[in-house]
Amino acid sequence: MNGLPRKMKTRIFLFSLFLMRGAFSLVMAEIAIDANYAGGNARILTREASTFTVAPDLRDTEGWWFYFNFRLRGQTEQPVSVSFAERNPIGVRGPAMSLDGGRTWTWLGKQVVTKTVAEDRTSWSFPTSLPRGVFEARFAFAPTYLESHLHEWLTAHQTNLALQVAELCFIRQGRGVELLRAGCLDLEKARGVVLLTSRHHACESVATYALEGLISAAVADDAIGRRWRSHWLIIAVPFMDKDGVEAGDQGKNRAPHDHNRDYSDTPLYPEVAAWMRLGESVRDRVVFSLDLHCPYISGQWNDRVYFVGGSDPSAAVKERAFARVLEHVVRGPLPFRAENGYLPWGSAWNTGSNNSAGRSNGTWARATFPKARFAGSIEIPYADVLGVEVNADSARALGRDLAEAILEHLE
Ligand SMILES: [Zn+2]
Repeated sequence: MNGLPRKMKTRIFLFSLFLMRGAFSLVMAEIAIDANYAGGNARILTREASTFTVAPDLRDTEGWWFYFNFRLRGQTEQPVSVSFAERNPIGVRGPAMSLDGGRTWTWLGKQVVTKTVAEDRTSWSFPTSLPRGVFEARFAFAPTYLESHLHEWLTAHQTNLALQVAELCFIRQGRGVELLRAGCLDLEKARGVVLLTSRHHACESVATYALEGLISAAVADDAIGRRWRSHWLIIAVPFMDKDGVEAGDQGKNRAPHDHNRDYSDTPLYPEVAAWMRLGESVRDRVVFSLDLHCPYISGQWNDRVYFVGGSDPSAAVKERAFARVLEHVVRGPLPFRAENGYLPWGSAWNTGSNNSAGRSNGTWARATFPKARFAGSIEIPYADVLGVEVNADSARALGRDLAEAILEHLE
């Protein structure tokens, strides 16, 4: 350019600026989609103008499952359409949306979803846009509960003398698996030990909101909290598949088997091996063992809170008795009825073939703690319980109800 006249150089410079400005405004107008963050999960199949076609990333899941969690970032108030191809992973209250980086969530409602059938191809889509002043929105199958949620709750309770946090074990990349102790922290003084777990299946976030609510009630400064602190020691692991939770895995039906089919003599997963050792070390003190889960997307047995019955008739008697106690104490918004909140062994999916992949936590607990007053699992729907909305607060309230029911059942 050195040989060019000064006037020409100025014109070239100004034209370059014009091109850069154009490119910059194009970038600003783009809406970006990705799932590259803790708990993220999506396959971005296509993008046409402002329509994204996505699908759950199954990773090592055998068969299909429905967990997704992605974000849109960029220009606000620009209409976008998100379309799911292949199968519909949207639950009975539509997608969940977070405008604060995944901390809190609201359901968008089923009415936002449109089903389209064209040339033998079915898709399910919903329109959205980033609200004015908000540059990121996350969309997920259900409200998520990650390590960041647990740490926020632990920080809020850090001066509570009835709650301690330690590590169950360390897993990949040195990541610690949180082990909580709550209630009566003196094992010698306690009348018994209550074991609690969730996230044997990484995507089952709502179960952990209930677990959080249960422990919050046990350490609260009220009558329920005082009863817990006087008599009962809780030992809990909120994330039995910690890597899966943070990676955004489905976790359910993970090959060669998932964490809830790993209770064998030679467990694959360090969390399960450590939990079995810990349980066996307090074998004679365990009075209650509850593993919290979420069921399938929709349909019968996915629309209610229920206990999963064990095959041993004496276990079933204890489980039905606890279900009646829970029905009696429920005060939170999520209804529970013992009559339809118990799936007996041999019914629906709860059969021998479901256990062929390996032993579950519930089956292990029933065999390991025969004297316990309850050993088994509960299923808590992601979105709706008999017409009542499931969200972080209503799931926590169910946890509080469980805390009271366990006391009533034990005392
Ligand atoms: Zn599960």
